[in-house]
Amino acid sequence: MGKIISVANPKGGVGKTITSINLAAALAYLNQKVLLIDLDPKGDASKGLGIDTSGVEYNVYSILIQKQNIRNAILRTPYQNLDIIVGSTNMAGFDLECASVDNKNNILKENIEQIKDNYDYIIIDCPPSLTTLTQNAFASSNSVLIPMQCEFFSMEVISQLLNTILRVQRTMNNNLQIEGVLLTMCDFRTKIAISVQQEVRQIFKDKVYTFGIPRNIRLVESTYKGRPIIDYDVKCNSAKNYILLAKEVINNK
Ligand code: ADP
Ligand code: MG
Repeated sequence: MGKIISVANPKGGVGKTITSINLAAALAYLNQKVLLIDLDPKGDASKGLGIDTSGVEYNVYSILIQKQNIRNAILRTPYQNLDIIVGSTNMAGFDLECASVDNKNNILKENIEQIKDNYDYIIIDCPPSLTTLTQNAFASSNSVLIPMQCEFFSMEVISQLLNTILRVQRTMNNNLQIEGVLLTMCDFRTKIAISVQQEVRQIFKDKVYTFGIPRNIRLVESTYKGRPIIDYDVKCNSAKNYILLAKEVINNK
């Protein structure tokens, strides 16, 4: 049965999308069957895999709002073992559109139930918010993987995220776990990266992966070119660390 992992942090620009793409691709590279769901209305995860979403007939909006069968929205990517459901800018109105829907936090879960046995992992790239869309992701998931940028630390943001996870555990999904905390954009020659790392380790203890993802222009280039880093430059440190992350995730199943 597939394990479902939300990649989430309400702060934007912390590496959620780059981690979703590259964790999904690294798991697929390690022979796991993977589905990536691009839940962010910006559609960056889809673009980061080189997909022009305007040419795709069915996307997350089609299944969550227009009630299309989820199977129709699954696309093969150019990468073996890696499928995707692409994002849609229409998802920006999701909160309003489903405001009066019964059980609105479980729409994604009911869809994923139908296909989760076809995958080893389903990775959900969450939007930078804790609204109904992210709650749908958390209600569907076994765990939440939290990317945290080494150059930014806010106790307020972390508290909001942890409170949402607790609320989802209490009300919708008591099995929801923290998969791990991944330090991103790390440059441990800087004081700020060292102190952020210390603070994060004090809060999350052994949930923090021992390695972080270094700040690396090759990663930025690879998303710009629409390719996962293991395809673009498999020898660079970030590719190695995303493979390490995938191995940790597999060991933790
Ligand atoms: P989020 O999804 O949390 O908003 P992204 O994954 O889109 O964050 O990353 C935000 C920006 O930071 C993007 O431009 C991305 O290319 C860049 N970025 C992310 N991780 C790294 C890294 N390890 N090294 C360099 N740039 C990075
Ligand atoms: Mg993103």
